[in-house]
Amino acid sequence: MDFTLPLTPQYTQTGGTTKAASSSLFGDYAIAATILFTLVVFLFEAYLNFRQRKSYHKTDFPRELETTVGNIDRETKSSAAAADKKEESSKSGSSDDDDKKDKVDRNAPILPQLKSKFSHAQSYGLDKINFSIFSSTYAVTEEVVFLLYGFLPYVWDKACAVGAKYGWTETEHEIKITLLFLGIVTIVGTITSLPFELYSTFEIEKKHGFNKQTLGLFFTDKLKGLVLSAVFGAPFVALLLKIIFMGGDKFYLYVWAFTFVFSVIMMTLVPVVIMPLFNKYEKLPDGPLKDSIYELAGKLSFPLTKLFVMDGSKRSSHSNAFMFGFMKNKRIVLFDTLLSQVSNDEILAILGHELGHWKMGHTVTNFVVTQVYTGFMFYFFSLCYNSHELYRAFGFDDESRPIPTIIALVLFTSTIWAPVDKTLSFIMTVHSRKCEFEADEFSVNLGMSSKLQSGLCKIHLENLGAMSPDSWYSTYHYSHPPLVERLSAMMKLDTAKKLS
Ligand SMILES: [Zn+2]
Repeated sequence: MDFTLPLTPQYTQTGGTTKAASSSLFGDYAIAATILFTLVVFLFEAYLNFRQRKSYHKTDFPRELETTVGNIDRETKSSAAAADKKEESSKSGSSDDDDKKDKVDRNAPILPQLKSKFSHAQSYGLDKINFSIFSSTYAVTEEVVFLLYGFLPYVWDKACAVGAKYGWTETEHEIKITLLFLGIVTIVGTITSLPFELYSTFEIEKKHGFNKQTLGLFFTDKLKGLVLSAVFGAPFVALLLKIIFMGGDKFYLYVWAFTFVFSVIMMTLVPVVIMPLFNKYEKLPDGPLKDSIYELAGKLSFPLTKLFVMDGSKRSSHSNAFMFGFMKNKRIVLFDTLLSQVSNDEILAILGHELGHWKMGHTVTNFVVTQVYTGFMFYFFSLCYNSHELYRAFGFDDESRPIPTIIALVLFTSTIWAPVDKTLSFIMTVHSRKCEFEADEFSVNLGMSSKLQSGLCKIHLENLGAMSPDSWYSTYHYSHPPLVERLSAMMKLDTAKKLS
């Protein structure tokens, strides 16, 4: 967005009419520019949604996928029989097999299964994209209405009014009023998003056989989430504001240090304190799978201290695996759903990919980028902090009242900073896909190419992933490259290896 920023406080006597004129011009245009930007982004994303929607209407199985997966089936055919027999005994049975007829056969060729699930995957994708078109339209309408009707100043005034009953004043008790304000905003947000979440979970996911959670579990999760955001979010905001108040001109430096320390603390606490509140983590039982995972970790000098199985099946039959932890204390978590969907060798190949992310520093890079980004954001915020014209445009027009810091921050991030944020998140999405290819290559170089390919296909099949996504849509939204691109890239590597 190219509206210019008043970088200095606006209430100066010098500068005369020109300055006053330009700043009020900025004030007039700020809200229009923000709405314009919101709408342009919305229209662009809506266009992508419609492109993707069209791709879900295709009835022919994508030819490229047919070729690549056909290759995998041929490659594995010869070696599969012997290998699969060996590992069948070592499975740790974990998921309920109530809908067995719909389960993927781990030992059968993949292509016929993909083909038979194609139309189901298309209708699942279609339901999801239709829902997303509807919910994003609602979201942008809500955003614009809230902007035009001054939702933020309205809620701030309400928070002040409630605070006044306890003798709080805006100038002396800004932190307390801010927490009250955020509490109201959070509750309003939770309520307005509730129908959408309920529909997505209990209509779409359920219809396609993924949802495993009850309404009771859903609302318990919500409640836990709200309590956690009060327990961790409130002290965070309170300290952040204190630092801004006390930090002087260079408050962004102290804020930067603080957010860094806070994110390190949260990275430590989340797996130990927060994640167990939502799921059960059990040690992977002794057996060949556990042995081979430790062997792989040892080979790569990955300091694996704990290996868990998580009861993901409690909420959904979607599957996953991830790792976390600091420095010399790493943990790997496998969803119980994953264990029931792919073979041990395939799990190992998938972990080879995950460990590739670690070995090539992707996790560290992401952390550093986030920290640098936060630093820059607060630096630019410090430049606009006193630009009252901006806030006036959004309904905070009483000059006798100081602008609440939280409002300044919210307006800053949702107006001037929004284009920067959109751009960066697009760059990060593109970068993430590059990292995925690199991690695949890492697993391929460990000699697990064919198992990674078949494993990915099976996960894709189980999750009813998009089989022929729109190229624009996937470029903009996908953090992972489309299946067929990953398979083709690995096959290229295989061919190159055979030739050398
Ligand atoms: Zn990955």
